[in-house]
Amino acid sequence: MSSSTYFYQECPTCGRPVEIRVEYLGRKVTCHHCRGKLVARDASSFRPNPAHKSSTLLERAEQLLDSLAEDEKEELHPTHTDAPNPR
Ligand SMILES: [Zn+2]
Repeated sequence: MSSSTYFYQECPTCGRPVEIRVEYLGRKVTCHHCRGKLVARDASSFRPNPAHKSSTLLERAEQLLDSLAEDEKEELHPTHTDAPNPR
């Protein structure tokens, strides 16, 4: 990818915001203020536990449910006009 996006994360050593590339997420980076080591992680989605896998799984499940709901809607149409089910 050519575009490099940055985000800021507070350095645990000096408390200053450190500019981190998004491609360094999950990796160790060096603070350019105090040269302290820190692990890059998205500050906006910060959680005390590294449970990033379950959150993405949840998002996927929600997307799946959305697509399923749309499928049902489309299937309802032909059934309505085609077969007059005697219920
Ligand atoms: Zn620092």
